[in-house]
Amino acid sequence: MHYRLYSHNPESRYIEVECHMKATAAEAIEVQLPAWRPGRYELQNFAKNIQKFEIFDGAGNPLPFRKIAKDRWLVQTQDTTDIVARYNYYSNILNAGSSYVSEEFWYVNPVNLCLYIDENLTESCTLELVIPGNFLVACGLKENLDARTAESRTLFAKDYYELVDSPLIASATIQCQTYQVADTKFHVWMQGNIKPDWHRILIDFEKFTSAQIATMGEFPEPEYHFLNLILSTPYYHGVEHRHSTMIVLGPDDEGEGLYTDLLGVSSHELFHAWNIIRIRPKELLPYDFTKENYFTTCFVAEGVTTYYGDLFLRRSGVFDDAAYYRELQVYMKRHFENNRDAQQSLVESSWDLWLDGYEKGIPRRKVSVYHKGALAALILDITIRKNHQHKKSLDDVMRLMWERFGIPFVGYSFEDYQNVVEEVVGEPIDWYWKDCILSNVPMESHLNQALSWVGLQMVTFSDGTVHLQELENERAVLQRNKWLNSDS
Ligand SMILES: [Zn+2]
Repeated sequence: MHYRLYSHNPESRYIEVECHMKATAAEAIEVQLPAWRPGRYELQNFAKNIQKFEIFDGAGNPLPFRKIAKDRWLVQTQDTTDIVARYNYYSNILNAGSSYVSEEFWYVNPVNLCLYIDENLTESCTLELVIPGNFLVACGLKENLDARTAESRTLFAKDYYELVDSPLIASATIQCQTYQVADTKFHVWMQGNIKPDWHRILIDFEKFTSAQIATMGEFPEPEYHFLNLILSTPYYHGVEHRHSTMIVLGPDDEGEGLYTDLLGVSSHELFHAWNIIRIRPKELLPYDFTKENYFTTCFVAEGVTTYYGDLFLRRSGVFDDAAYYRELQVYMKRHFENNRDAQQSLVESSWDLWLDGYEKGIPRRKVSVYHKGALAALILDITIRKNHQHKKSLDDVMRLMWERFGIPFVGYSFEDYQNVVEEVVGEPIDWYWKDCILSNVPMESHLNQALSWVGLQMVTFSDGTVHLQELENERAVLQRNKWLNSDS
């Protein structure tokens, strides 16, 4: 499949798409636009941004077609094998999963606007961008330099799954610096009205990246790109991808707060390069872009990643204890002050991400797979450390998940995760699954039992607000230092 993207007038926010497909000779074929994008488990119905749509054969003759679903078209191909779809896509949204076009820059998530036919999902793809010659292209996909012309750049993807896992920013003003850890080259791209403190960024990024790779043993990709879009308005959003992450932050004049956000979201997204991109729930392997892909383990994908995103900042020395406690207290407040008595368990709220996971929802219904999930991960990590006097930890769980499910890329089930966890713990932990993961019983006592071993405590005030406190206990402080400073 070959996609050619151009815009007659970028300020109109319309991207014109020409999609060249080769199909098996048949009376008719079906073409599909994704209904959702990986990283956000809700239907987004990108087809609503298409204004006009036409299909032709290779000689330019129109082919008859009609919709058979909101984002699926049946095309009467009459044995024609060369098919060209021409449509336009309204690109006017700036979040970490959208597309936006202007005179100054192009921001494209191919999953928003690239059609596919089922038989071609595993075929290679090329993405041709008709952009000004002075634009740089920031993307995890490699450019095919032989295909470069005065007016366009062409990127290459091994298959459709890689194509739609590769957002890009193209502009004349984008800034970039790189650093190397182990065998991987990391690129940090910045689009926006800011003067990055590159010296500080490179030191801190190298630290948390090294800590993550040291723990997991290897990085899954030879190159990795942090694509940052910095807005003038408040924003905080990141999306994980195979060899990149797309991050949107703001406001651009916020200074230290913006930098803390950048560190937090970057460390989180980087850990996703293992956890969910490769260590993937089996219900999401492969992705079915036509409908909901229900799964119960988002407390592993997002909860464990949220826990580790901040923990790696502490372990690598980017955060001090106080900065780490502030983040820990954020999950506690979000969970206990908002959802303490919610009806759902983590697995139920994971399933229902597709229903109301990204909206406020009705009172006392769901829990956050991010915040409650991170607290559940903390309880598990400390339980394992306590059982094994720090010789084992949640690190061992994630390394085993990587070896067994990530490297072979076979997908894991809830039972697989349970088995790996109990293998590392060394005994069944029915209480953990029952109380923390599968039901909605309040988690305070399990959390405080775990925290007390490392000299911390969550205090609940009479108005329901919670606060994280340090306990003065020498032995516990010793355990805490081992927990927060361990490097494997
Ligand atoms: Zn995440």
